[in-house]
Amino acid sequence: SNEFFLIRFNSSSKWNRNMAKYKSTEQVMKIISDKNKIRNFGVIAHVDHGKTTMSDSLLAHSGIISPSSAGSALAMDSMKAEQERGITIVQANVTLHYQEGENDYVINMIDTPGHVDFSGRVIRSLRAIDGSVVVCDAVEGIMTQTETVTRMSLEERVRPVLYINKIDRLIKELRLTPEKMQETLASVVSNFNDLIDTYAEEEYKEKWKVSIQDGSVTFGSAKDRWAINIDIMKKKGVTFKDVIDAYSDSGNLEELIEKAPLADAVLGMVVKHHPPPHVAQKYRVPKIWKGDLDSDIGKSILNCDDNGPIVMMIVNMTIDPAAGPVAIGRLFSGTIKDGQTINIIDTKREGRVQSVNFFMSNVREQVGELGAGNIPALLGLTEARAGQTVASVKDIGLFEPSKYVSEPVVQMAIEPKHPKDLPQLVETLRKLTIEDPNLVIKIDEETGETIMAGMGVLHLDVAVNLIKDAKIEIITSEPLINYRETILGSSDAVMAKSPNRHNKIFMAVQPLEPEIAEMCRDGTLSEMKDKKETAQILRDHGWEPDIAKKVMRFDSRGNVMINGTKGVQFVDESTDSILSGFEEVMSEGGLTKEQVRNCKFTFTHFVPHEDTAHRGLSQLGPAARRACLGAFLSAEPMILEPMLAIEVRVPTDLIGNVSSVLQGKRGKVLDMQQKGAASIVIGEVPAVETFDISEKMRGQTAGKAIWNTHFKAWTPVPKSIGPTLLQEIRKRKGLSPDPPQANEFIDRD
Ligand code: GDP
Repeated sequence: SNEFFLIRFNSSSKWNRNMAKYKSTEQVMKIISDKNKIRNFGVIAHVDHGKTTMSDSLLAHSGIISPSSAGSALAMDSMKAEQERGITIVQANVTLHYQEGENDYVINMIDTPGHVDFSGRVIRSLRAIDGSVVVCDAVEGIMTQTETVTRMSLEERVRPVLYINKIDRLIKELRLTPEKMQETLASVVSNFNDLIDTYAEEEYKEKWKVSIQDGSVTFGSAKDRWAINIDIMKKKGVTFKDVIDAYSDSGNLEELIEKAPLADAVLGMVVKHHPPPHVAQKYRVPKIWKGDLDSDIGKSILNCDDNGPIVMMIVNMTIDPAAGPVAIGRLFSGTIKDGQTINIIDTKREGRVQSVNFFMSNVREQVGELGAGNIPALLGLTEARAGQTVASVKDIGLFEPSKYVSEPVVQMAIEPKHPKDLPQLVETLRKLTIEDPNLVIKIDEETGETIMAGMGVLHLDVAVNLIKDAKIEIITSEPLINYRETILGSSDAVMAKSPNRHNKIFMAVQPLEPEIAEMCRDGTLSEMKDKKETAQILRDHGWEPDIAKKVMRFDSRGNVMINGTKGVQFVDESTDSILSGFEEVMSEGGLTKEQVRNCKFTFTHFVPHEDTAHRGLSQLGPAARRACLGAFLSAEPMILEPMLAIEVRVPTDLIGNVSSVLQGKRGKVLDMQQKGAASIVIGEVPAVETFDISEKMRGQTAGKAIWNTHFKAWTPVPKSIGPTLLQEIRKRKGLSPDPPQANEFIDRD
């Protein structure tokens, strides 16, 4: 029924036939019974630097797909859409076998997406691994996304090592001499080490620098399937000169590939420089797990203890057409077995593990049980989602705040062309959102329309194509940009009465410190957290001690509500009602009914009716809502728009044309870098201006520009267009063109 699922299915049956050369399940299970023989790593890179080609080459070497199709089959790109666009969206994971002398290793490779629109997935993938191989194009060098993914890796204490790809281009295209080539490579290494210097924590700055001498840097051509590093050079007697010769007219490239296959060099580097799971967890867990390290559970996680309670973080949910949802994640502690009932901590639900599976190359196999430090794939946990923590015990810290999902900035309405297809569309959308938690589907309560929201125009494009692949004809609206509302100023306390006029609520608002707002959004500050701890964080940010302990609500959109009342009765029992009014305003602000961010509300005074019957939710909810709106609209409210970062690669003589396109779109050029014959223009442009940027860019550069964008920040809309934009958004929502005035919500006596 659904083509893209079938494609994957067919591909894996093709791989199945080539499984013969691979170690048997039994042998693999025996190897991983010694944790020293396990590695969990991922490949990260700037888009187009060769991550997919390299991963494919690694797979080929394990005899999973035939070597002749490696480099073109793009085995890791399991979705058709990815192949068409040439970008990797959904992570797949595969298990590779590597032998070094007498020692066998089982290496789990988690594929991470290259496109920054999907960086939520990159972070989750990083949770599961202990080391990363950063792929970097030798000609282009370190690019912005190389920097982003390396920084993310370091923030997760995942040790990065360097693979410099496309060496063939230095020889064939740039015709560099051996001296010049070494100079170029040395500068890539040194720029990479600058990143480590900038982003690594003090303790790892020196320890994690890479060097050619210790083999933490590998050079190669993923396309041609060879690679070398110092260890391979010594072992096989290969030199840089041999490489250059191999590409000369009389050279023998096949011989080089035979002598120095890519997998040997890269996997050798992984085994040597990436830690096994039990070693890594000792220093990674304090950074990534928000629980008590001195508790029994904490110790078990730190020690990667097979005999401790089960604690696993799910990093990916995929749907198997035959078996249903598959939860793939990192088991940090315990041994997980078929048939066990475990708790999904984030949602306080239970789930039953139907079967425990392990990837043998890229084929999922049932194995009955797996110990700590592995990457199990669990069937049966249909309610679980990527990012959640599952455990055999109930009350434990999370690996990732459940609220962690990137904010969608673009949305479109979607409906089936033929109404009879609606159930199938709903089912397809459900599958898409299980696999991609950053894709949000909601029903507009007023219009009944199905709305799909994502992180950029490209993100929605990919989803639309997947739906079409499922053979459903759909009609979509133009993509619409989401906005946010916030305030520039502060308000005095304003008062609003309840509908029965018997209760008075007083409310004031001022801007919330941006760092505090961010911590509300990422879940660091929430009511679920220990009150003493949250108060301490607020005091560290300059809050008065007695205010820091009076927060009634940390709103996940990045707002807070403080109880500033003194000696008034009935506040506690009215809290829920008041917060419901507050929540309503945070989700639909006073200007355009867009979400509110970065506001610090204070509930300053309360004059309640004596009788409970007259101060219920139906009275206090609306009063709180009106008080919040009155305060908000008195504090210089304004609209924020999503700003995208844009990176354009063009021939150097066309730089001027690119910057004029950006300027014509209210954008800015922030930086320019020369990379070989091309230049990279780094800039920013408002999302709302990007719908026809393709045509503009093509027109101005004769189609010679390649670019990508990703969400950067919510930024104030310029004064010159603010009022017009505000009216447009209101009209689009069927509201009167002018926003309400504060007075409409404020009562005077
Ligand atoms: P990804 O976006 O990082 O996954 O990059 P891909 O693996 O899709 O590669 C991007 C492009 O670079 C493709 O056209 C590849 O054929 C090409 N490519 C990959 N590795 C090499 C290499 O070693 N040498 C050359 N010349 N091209 C390569």
